[in-house]
Amino acid sequence: MLINSIWTNNDNFKVKRTITVNGLMLHSVGCAQPRAEVFVRNWNGDVGVGVHAFIDGLTGNVYQTLSWNHRAWHCGDAANNTHIGVEMCEPDCITYTSGANFTCSDYERAKAIVTRTYNAAVDLFAQLCNTYNLNPLTDIISHREGALKGIASNHGDPEHLWNGLKTGFTMDGFRQAVKAKMQSAGQAKFEPYRVVVTASVLNVRTGAGTNYNIATQVKKNEVYTIVDEVNGWGKLKSGAGWISLSYTKKL
Ligand SMILES: [Zn+2]
Repeated sequence: MLINSIWTNNDNFKVKRTITVNGLMLHSVGCAQPRAEVFVRNWNGDVGVGVHAFIDGLTGNVYQTLSWNHRAWHCGDAANNTHIGVEMCEPDCITYTSGANFTCSDYERAKAIVTRTYNAAVDLFAQLCNTYNLNPLTDIISHREGALKGIASNHGDPEHLWNGLKTGFTMDGFRQAVKAKMQSAGQAKFEPYRVVVTASVLNVRTGAGTNYNIATQVKKNEVYTIVDEVNGWGKLKSGAGWISLSYTKKL
């Protein structure tokens, strides 16, 4: 469930700068507080940082604190200008010792909380990938991965939490889960339809995106049946591959 909690006093809100969303960054808060409301309240002032949403550890609810295209200072570097930032809250039964190291007094409870936020983040990121036409496999990174790419400050979240609790969660697994979620959501409501090609020549690719190989080509005025749609790409009924629907007209 999405809970509208848009800040009015956070300094990121007051600056009112917008971004073109090119990616999504997954964070975890880095302190033992599972309740999103606490962060929503404590960060609603001149705290110097901001994110677009917090995921509650006890309910899995998403508390949206800034419009998705509002610039938020969530990762300390360039990705703030391109990425939506989402924080997962953390279990209350962990105790940070130094840096990203922590001890845990109740592993079962901690894993239940982390699994809840992981699953809620998969759902949210699948929706955001659809909204902003993003590829879940290439456009989603963690704060830690952003640091390795040089576009975020030196943090280890959220992998430090997943690894420390031996959950088995990884960012590659997360990206695959988002992709699977997008596909199952798309298939559930999909009705096949016919399109006519409007470009003189249009590439048919092995997947839904220009990062996939060209399988064959189709030509202007040819008619095809589309049996699935992902991010503005349509899957041909023949099984030949996917075409960009921007160069077609629905019949
Ligand atoms: Zn972070």
